[in-house]
Amino acid sequence: MKVYLESLGCARNLVDSEIMLGLLKQDGFDIEDTPDTAEVIVVNTCSFITTAAQESVDTILAFAEYKKSGACRYLVVCGCLPERYGKDMAGEMPEVDLFLGTAAGTEIVRALSDLKEGERGICLFADPSGVSPEKAHLPRITSNPHMAYIKISEGCSRHCTYCIIPKLRGRYRSRSLGDILSEARNLVAKGIRELVLVAESTTDYGSDVPDGPSLPQVIRDIAAIPGDFRVRLLYGFPDNLTSDIIDAVGNTDKVCCYFDVPVQHAVDTVLKTMGRGYTQQDLFTLFQGIRARYPHAALRTTLITGFPGESDQDFKDLLAFIKKVGFDHLGVFTYSDSDDLPSHRLPDHVSEKKAARRQDRLMAAQAQISLARNMTHVGQCYRVLIEENPEDGVYLGRTDFQAPEVDGVTFVYGENLSVGDFVMVRISDAFEYDLSGEPL
Ligand code: SF4
Repeated sequence: MKVYLESLGCARNLVDSEIMLGLLKQDGFDIEDTPDTAEVIVVNTCSFITTAAQESVDTILAFAEYKKSGACRYLVVCGCLPERYGKDMAGEMPEVDLFLGTAAGTEIVRALSDLKEGERGICLFADPSGVSPEKAHLPRITSNPHMAYIKISEGCSRHCTYCIIPKLRGRYRSRSLGDILSEARNLVAKGIRELVLVAESTTDYGSDVPDGPSLPQVIRDIAAIPGDFRVRLLYGFPDNLTSDIIDAVGNTDKVCCYFDVPVQHAVDTVLKTMGRGYTQQDLFTLFQGIRARYPHAALRTTLITGFPGESDQDFKDLLAFIKKVGFDHLGVFTYSDSDDLPSHRLPDHVSEKKAARRQDRLMAAQAQISLARNMTHVGQCYRVLIEENPEDGVYLGRTDFQAPEVDGVTFVYGENLSVGDFVMVRISDAFEYDLSGEPL
């Protein structure tokens, strides 16, 4: 049968989608690039925040139309939305034939073959903590020919009060070093030029395996694989981003000197009610420490505005914090309330309007900070991974300090460059989020 898969949400979900596609192809399914000819449509959903859950529902309903107008016979919904809302969804979404929880994605082939003609709303859920983090033995169809995410663990054992992920993905389970290296070698052999290490919290790696391998070892061992590629680490947690990890990132060939550390806030009272476990002073010490050791390090973080109890003064302090640190890249989300979260029971909720205004003010301030940091790159030369050639003489790529999908890009004006190659580029212009330059 012909199958089309739509992957929503985060990089971790994308890896799950790519493995489901690998399993379906291995079982003889034809992978379609568009939904209109697909007999099976799979939607791998996200439900981290309300807007993401709504986007998932809208996407499912949009694809359900293909059961009326297209070739679609089976609509499959998997991932975090059915995991969060469970069997209730079957009653609310009669269009869907099969629901798979986050722990059942690798069962997709068997579940589809078990689906009898006319059956509807079959649900397959298993304990998320039961999912093995080992993946190298699973077939995977990567969606980007030059960049691939590598999940180094599953789940999360922390208790941030606004976060549903531990419930959806289970407790933290580190993946074995051998399994990670085996997948990394496969991806490099397939021509992947950038390996991006992801997890709910990458710096928690090894915390569940006493005397097990450490994250610095994982980073260095991947970088030691022969080949012309680079490694990037995302989703570090501030309270265990140790100096060993900082040095493994900052001082290893092939590893981007790039620190993605979602701090979510920077005011002690708010950090406490978020359950984050660190203070503003800890953050200053961390980021100033990184910059002191690696002045060219790129810093990325994300923040939440409008968390219950966040006062006007707290917001002013948060604004002052980002101006003092000067992040290269910043993402800001508004707090997303839901009655299945501990934070829902906190007092002094902030209106969505005020949260959105605060988000806008932070992003406006960051645009200035980002432009100033980008200006420091003008005249400098960097290795750029060429990823697109939208028109003659124009290429899009990313430097070591530009992560995929979330950061700006570098426009490269030149001739006869090859997509998938690293090219040395002299930066000639800078914008709020992007750069431009010419190949050396
Ligand atoms: S670290 Fe906190 S925010 Fe991140 S997945 Fe775990 S509980 Fe959620």
